[in-house]
Amino acid sequence: MTAENSAAATSAPTATTTSRAQTPAATALRGVKGMNDLLPPDSARWEWFEDRVRSLMRRYGYLFVRTPIVEPTPLFVRGLGEVTDIVEKEMYSFTDSMNGDALTLRPEGTAGVVRAAVEHSMLYDGGKRLFYIGPMFRHERPQRGRYRQFHQVGVEALGFSGPDVDAEVILMCRTLWRELGLGEVRLDINCLGQSAERKAHREALVRHLESGLDLLDAEALRRLHSNPLRILDTKNTAMQPLVESAPRLMDFLGEASLKHFDGLRRLLDAAGQPYRVNHRLVRGMDYYNLSVFEWVTDQLGAQGTICGGGRYDGLTELIGGKPAPGIGWGMGIERVLDLMQQCGNSPELPAPDVYAVIPDEAAMAAAVPVVEALRAAGLAVWVHAAGAAGLGSMKSQFKKADASGAHHALIFGAQELARGEVGLKPLREATAVQTSRTMTEVLTWANELRRA
Ligand code: ATP
Ligand code: MG
Repeated sequence: MTAENSAAATSAPTATTTSRAQTPAATALRGVKGMNDLLPPDSARWEWFEDRVRSLMRRYGYLFVRTPIVEPTPLFVRGLGEVTDIVEKEMYSFTDSMNGDALTLRPEGTAGVVRAAVEHSMLYDGGKRLFYIGPMFRHERPQRGRYRQFHQVGVEALGFSGPDVDAEVILMCRTLWRELGLGEVRLDINCLGQSAERKAHREALVRHLESGLDLLDAEALRRLHSNPLRILDTKNTAMQPLVESAPRLMDFLGEASLKHFDGLRRLLDAAGQPYRVNHRLVRGMDYYNLSVFEWVTDQLGAQGTICGGGRYDGLTELIGGKPAPGIGWGMGIERVLDLMQQCGNSPELPAPDVYAVIPDEAAMAAAVPVVEALRAAGLAVWVHAAGAAGLGSMKSQFKKADASGAHHALIFGAQELARGEVGLKPLREATAVQTSRTMTEVLTWANELRRA
């Protein structure tokens, strides 16, 4: 927006016109800190990644859903729990100035998908396997792998209670890592049991933590009685001995929880997927029960968790629906793509099949129907277009054709056109020569190329 435009947008229009010379130079506007633009050529890597994800989802039977990026604030406060990092300090919450509604930019995907499933009675005829891709918003300190707008792929399998689906959602990640060419990504799993079991453990845990009260940092002290389980995943090294010697939740689990966990372990073993039982893996959200898991890498520094998830059998009831089991994960796309680059895997980015060289304006009328026919036949065709200084020389057009990565140049030269032909030149062969083709021959060539 120019200074004049922005002035016009914020003040009522007046009859007097301001000359450019009098307008003070506008300060350049910048995007919001921690929220990034995705631009070519990076955007092509994202599209490639999303294509791989969609292919994965199709093979596992997960169907696409898109929920709004804004939800009523109580959905997250109730769903995630009040004493969580997200609800305490990371949410972009605001009041709708039109009607006073309390709204929040979604910090994660599960609550919205489960809300939608409940609202639209999606589970009336059995379980549903769903996935989403989209932006999430958390007010965190921006750094590598941690942004204020970031993007997640997530799955939610709703209405299935057995460990078979737990194993399925975990193993589909492994398939994706393989297809993305990622190096070693470790799997951590744990079992959080049910709330009655966590309550018994919690009393023992609080007693233990109170025995080392002087070691607890401010955050741990605050959580000691509201959410002591979260103290277990502290990154504070001074507290490590205390949390490592803490009573284990696993020792408080009843038969049904242990059986579920064993079931998951047996399926992972059967699939040849190694894992570590991490007793301190408790995950950030209150809604989790039974199986929780994280996929972790050492190659990304501090932000090493690329995917995390778990079972949340109580969530539908928390947000006012009928009871229904659920399990899902969220994957940070920025971190996964960063890891892919670390592993030296860069996908081949799409280049056009054809770059159309237009020596002079008069040739355009002949070129348009041809390039349209080639596109209809399925080829990607980039047409040279005039800049401020006109179309430019043949030499500069061929330079552009080369830089585009196009496999062939189609040259609409006056001499060829006079004969009803066009020039065709392969661009990726050192010894290639330009040949002339009739329009019919070009179309046949295009169809063959398409089939190849
Ligand atoms: P962390 O411990 O790194 O803060 P988290 O437990 O808050 O992660 P989840 O809520 O489980 O993260 O989200 C799932 C995934 O989304 C994470 O494993 C990570 O890959 C990604 N993620 C979470 N927060 C961010 C962020 N601020 N920027 C980029 N990616 C993120
Ligand atoms: Mg976090």
